[in-house]
Amino acid sequence: MLIFRLIIAIAIIWLLFYVYRRIHKTVANKRQLARRAPETKDMVRCEQCGLHIPSTEAIERAGHYYCCQEHAEQQ
Ligand SMILES: [Zn+2]
Repeated sequence: MLIFRLIIAIAIIWLLFYVYRRIHKTVANKRQLARRAPETKDMVRCEQCGLHIPSTEAIERAGHYYCCQEHAEQQ
């Protein structure tokens, strides 16, 4: 009967290791997604100088985007 106990012990250890790896992998994936998210911003082109900047940092005037206040006023 010793062999059955040994098989059960190995099965339990393997299961614990498998569950641990699954949890660890899920956490790592979530961290990677969180890190990647800010890079997926929309890039817009300045109408004045052609510089590409994130839409969150751009100045919008009548549907056109500008990199700075100065360029927005020049149009
Ligand atoms: Zn510009």
